[in-house]
Amino acid sequence: MNHKLLIANRGEIALRIQRACRKLGIPHVQVCSQADQDARYVHEADQSICIGPARARDSYLNIPALVYAARVTGSTMVHPGYGFLSENAGFSAAVADDGLIFVGPPASAILAMGNKVRARQAMIAAGVPCIPGSPGPLPDDIAEIRRIAQQIGYPVIVKASGGGGGRGMRVVQVEAELEEAVALTREEARTAFGNPELYMERYLTTPRHVELQVLCDGHGNGVHLGDRDCSMQRRHQKVIEEAPAPGVLRQLIEQVAARCLDACKSMGYRGAGTFEFLYENDELFFIEMNTRLQVEHPVTEMITGIDIVEAQLRVAMGEPLGLSQSDITFSGHAIECRINAENPVTMLPSPGCVIEWQPPEGEGLRVDTHLYSGYAVSAHYDSLIAKFIAHGPDRSTAIARMENALATTHVTGIDTNIPLQTRLMQDDAFRAGGAGINYLETSMKTEEKE
Ligand code: ADP
Repeated sequence: MNHKLLIANRGEIALRIQRACRKLGIPHVQVCSQADQDARYVHEADQSICIGPARARDSYLNIPALVYAARVTGSTMVHPGYGFLSENAGFSAAVADDGLIFVGPPASAILAMGNKVRARQAMIAAGVPCIPGSPGPLPDDIAEIRRIAQQIGYPVIVKASGGGGGRGMRVVQVEAELEEAVALTREEARTAFGNPELYMERYLTTPRHVELQVLCDGHGNGVHLGDRDCSMQRRHQKVIEEAPAPGVLRQLIEQVAARCLDACKSMGYRGAGTFEFLYENDELFFIEMNTRLQVEHPVTEMITGIDIVEAQLRVAMGEPLGLSQSDITFSGHAIECRINAENPVTMLPSPGCVIEWQPPEGEGLRVDTHLYSGYAVSAHYDSLIAKFIAHGPDRSTAIARMENALATTHVTGIDTNIPLQTRLMQDDAFRAGGAGINYLETSMKTEEKE
């Protein structure tokens, strides 16, 4: 069958997917909102189609407009990228109902992993280690909730089953705070996610964020592509990612990844997926599964040599994975810095017109970006404008290559977080490897006070 792919996303990831299409000889259609109509990556696409006004709700989140765009352009497949509708089971189902292929797992797997209580139960059943917590949704009875919290041990975190994006959770240090925290989180869950269901976990105080990349086909084959550390975060947004996670035992990764692949088999998973964990005291604890491509996928590509987007497209077209675990080898170390258009002091988005843009070049360096001189960074979307990925035989070489990349980038017209990334590359805790998820925010607060 002759396929054609609709790219239902924008920016750097749209360009990344275009690149995979060209490699595979698959014609592609790039969607755009009115705000993105003049972008170079839209013009350079095989074909483009405007799906609505600038507001994401009216364009990149507009399921009928996207399905219609696929239909009128004769597309046979839809790639959702990350963010927007990439983890929306309704979108996956709408695409499939139209007789098209959704480049991602079936709607049933997205739904199962989108509900955190169900996801946790599925992981426990597959033997994937989870944080000690409530066996299922929290009951209404506060006395019963108190009993569960006591059993888990304080501090605990109350979380919404339907939560996402770092919202819908509350840390409870002592029992006196429990009742109010449950009531507030339930209300927030009801209004923000339309689902008041809550659950509870022990709150880990100094964890790292470690995640595992998997790839599965629809024929029962699956492999893992190793781990990443994404602990450098601000407001739950990842700032730096690296692969492999410094100091985490290979044996632990292999052991837990095998259980994750069992879980994938049980849910009929297809495509790329990420199991996210908190890592503390040499143990991994599952927190959630992302049923899509991740922003940070390039670090894994750099150390494995596997093109994850190409693999996504191949398995979506029904090809077997053609890889077994022994084919996957890991070489060296890769670090990704997310370059955002933001004010270096307030860290608020800094949209506007890029006057000059000269991206870095260098050995072991990859730059994923849709930027060019004259590009207008829109206030309507995420502030990510580029990803710098540095690869080297070891971590210190990767850091040195990243420092060079940051120092030789020239951008005017907008503010970026390059000064922050430069500082982090020189930061002792970062250079030592293994800083926790609270490190970046805590160190920035300390700096503000000084
Ligand atoms: P979301 O889907 O909103 O991203 P997650 O369950 O992945 O929610 O949690 C987001 C972040 O909240 C984690 O990366 C971590 O920083 C923090 N967090 C979640 N659960 C815990 C926990 N049990 N202990 C400590 N921190 C947690």
